[in-house]
Amino acid sequence: MADFDFPLTRSDALQRLNDFLPHAGAAYARLRNKEQGQGQHVHVSRLSAALRRRLISEQEVVDAVLARHGLSAAEKFVSEVFWRTYWKGWLEQRPTVWEDYNAAVERALEQLDALSGLRKRYASAIAGSTGIDCFDAWARELNETGYLHNWARMQFASIWIFTLGLPWELGAASMFERLIDADPASNTLSWRWVAGLHTAGKAYLADAERIRSMTDGRFSPAGLARTARIPADSVRTPSPSSIRLASSPDPSAATLFLLTTEDLSVEQVGTMRALPVKAIAFLRGRNKWDDAALADGLARAAQVWPDAEVCGALAPGELAAAAKAAGCKQIATAFLPVGPVASSIAPLRAEVDRFGIAFTEYLRDWDRMAWPHCRKGFFGLKEKIPALLQAEHR
Ligand SMILES: Cc1cc2nc3c(=O)[nH]c(=O)nc-3n(C[C@H](O)[C@H](O)[C@H](O)COP(=O)(O)OP(=O)(O)OC[C@H]3O[C@@H](n4cnc5c(N)ncnc54)[C@H](O)[C@@H]3O)c2cc1C
Repeated sequence: MADFDFPLTRSDALQRLNDFLPHAGAAYARLRNKEQGQGQHVHVSRLSAALRRRLISEQEVVDAVLARHGLSAAEKFVSEVFWRTYWKGWLEQRPTVWEDYNAAVERALEQLDALSGLRKRYASAIAGSTGIDCFDAWARELNETGYLHNWARMQFASIWIFTLGLPWELGAASMFERLIDADPASNTLSWRWVAGLHTAGKAYLADAERIRSMTDGRFSPAGLARTARIPADSVRTPSPSSIRLASSPDPSAATLFLLTTEDLSVEQVGTMRALPVKAIAFLRGRNKWDDAALADGLARAAQVWPDAEVCGALAPGELAAAAKAAGCKQIATAFLPVGPVASSIAPLRAEVDRFGIAFTEYLRDWDRMAWPHCRKGFFGLKEKIPALLQAEHR
């Protein structure tokens, strides 16, 4: 495996999926919450870095697991994958939650010196030197590997908010900076959920005894908060809006194919594969993990369209001119969900028009069918899972 324990190429991700298949049924349901420490996360798939960048798609993972176990044995694993879909669909229909969160991070950073001791508490939480054994170990694991087990993420976020009394937005932002699978929807909304802002009035409170037992006595944290004071000043949840309508690629228009870290296997989809691609470019990522995944995506795209000119890394502002220079009429990319990539592209949409180039996005069936069910709680999506899985194969 090229990078730590977390596949960042499509072939490594397919291999990991294959290796994990025997564990994705009843064993996953029984053992997935066991938190055994750094390097020992054998009961979970560790596919999130690949799924987040769609080096491998949710559909490929779920199809393989269902073929092996069937839905009733693999219900737990499949519904975890749908949590990822749920958060994306939920945020897509409430884009202002992402904007408000970013603004709140800026404000919280500016206020770090306003309250005595706050900056010090924040720094020790990041470094893993708070004196709370489990929290410090998880902070160090996160810093070293970019990964934390889901259950550890829940305890970590809860201790950050309710025991250390730090703003949830700073916790979310600092975790996002460090995670190998950093995802705007899963990360921001999971932190909101722990803080008690997703399901109104219901927060997640870490419990010392439970941490002791779930970690087989590795940790015995003292001084954890016994009540969850839900942050009062946080933005209220807006009602869902409709899903952004994007122009679909024109199958006959000369195309610049744009790779982003939002979806690095969209060239596997027939509709995209059939496009007359004249040029291939990618938007630079945020870190070395993105770079590894983008290099893999670029190599595969160049194989699909061997005659296309490879423009390499472009800044958003360079795309229209590059498309025009390559004789293209459209830029085609996978749908850009709410997050930093979509934000970086937003100002470009008007500019490409001026160049006579269409900016088009391909929305996968998986998202198109599931997102409308992500308007309220997870249950609304969960009850649709069997029907969605059937529809995928029609
Ligand atoms: C505070 C907090 C922050 C989080 N931040 C992120 C993030 O930035 N990026 C991210 O991908 N996940 C995030 N998660 C969700 C979850 O922790 C990870 O997806 C999971 O730990 C990845 O490990 P795995 O691939 O071994 O998961 P497995 O247990 O093997 O699950 C398979 C896949 O299902 C999806 N999945 C599983 N659990 C969840 C979940 N609770 N929410 C959403 N998707 C899930 C992931 O895509 C995962 O790869 C966060 C959870 C919490 C509590």
